[in-house]
Order: sequence, then C-alpha cells, then structure tokens
Amino acid sequence: MARKFVRAIFPGSFDPITNGHLDVIKRGIQLFDELIVAVGRSPIKNPLFTPQQRVEMISELVADIPGVSVESFEGLTVDFAKAKQANVILRGLRSLTDVEYEFQLALTNRALAGIETIFVMASESFGFTTSTMIRQVAGLGGDVSTLIPKSIYEKLQKRLKEKGSLTLDSQ
Ligand code: ADP
Repeated sequence: MARKFVRAIFPGSFDPITNGHLDVIKRGIQLFDELIVAVGRSPIKNPLFTPQQRVEMISELVADIPGVSVESFEGLTVDFAKAKQANVILRGLRSLTDVEYEFQLALTNRALAGIETIFVMASESFGFTTSTMIRQVAGLGGDVSTLIPKSIYEKLQKRLKEKGSLTLDSQ
C-alpha cells in the first residue's frame, strides 16, 4: 500500500531560531514529504525580531533544504495546519520539563482537530538551548555564537545595538 503524503508544520516563536530548532527541522524533514516552519504572529514577551524578520531569517537558513518552507501564522496552530492541509505537527523535546507541557498541547490539538503531533528529541549538543535564554544572555553581553547559526548571530548583534541596551529583557 502506498504511504500517505505527509505534510507537517513546525510551529513556534523562533525569536530567534537556534541551532536546536534547526536540528529539529533537519531531523523532521527526513520523516515527512513537506515541512512548513510556522512562525507564530501572536505577541510574545519581549520580542526581539518581528514575525516578518523571523520568517526571512529562517527562510535564508532552510533555502537549501528541499521540502522545507517558512510562513507566519496567527491564531490557533490547528487552524493553520488545516488551512495548509498538514496532517502532522512537529515539535522538539529538550527535557522532561518540556514533556509535560508538550503532552498537554499535543492532546489539546488532537482533541480540537484530530491532528497528531510527532516529537523529535533534541540533539545532545543543543538540548539546553532556548530562544528566551539566547535573548537574555545575548542582551547581557554573553557569547551565544555557538548556539545559533552564524547569520542569526550577526543579526542579533545588530538588533541589540539598535535596541542600545544591555538589559534587553527588561524592555
Ligand atoms: P514556543 O514558543 O512555542 O515554545 P519555540 O520557538 O521556543 O516555540 O519552540 C518551538 C519548538 O521547538 C518546541 O517544540 C520546542 O520544544 C522546540 N525546541 C526549541 N528549542 C529546542 C532545542 N534546543 N532542541 C530541540 N527542540 C527545541
């Protein structure tokens, strides 16, 4: 029997995208026919980049990966999945702390729309990386260059200069 075509979405804030996210994307596309990285437009705490900027930054990074595209969305993840005719939600798991929240989210999304969530485990090298931590550490002058792609690091430095503050997260 022919395997069903699988289009997945990978929803998140990606403010900014990290090596951990990129790792999930690269592992994910091996499981699916198509993967849409879905940048949430809903407001997050102390955003650094606009959703449009995030989409552009991620698009540059995944341009060479066949089957991967990037879009932004507003509202419920399951509604975006339906609009895109995606049959799977992809998420990454970093730690046991993630599991509880992700478990609730996956069951809620399944109850709402019957959609399955597939998880991939974080890479050993980046399992501790979160976008929030990157924003905080970089905002206080810490070196995050090994945790995010080079192009993102450069844009982050530029953005921090624009913001002109060492206490980014207090803004
Ligand atoms: P959200 O704001 O919804 O948590 P994020 O952009 O922070 O969105 O994360 C999106 C997804 O990527 C989540 O499933 C999260 O667990 C996963 N993720 C984030 N960082 C990593 C990482 N370092 N390794 C593996 N998965 C990660």
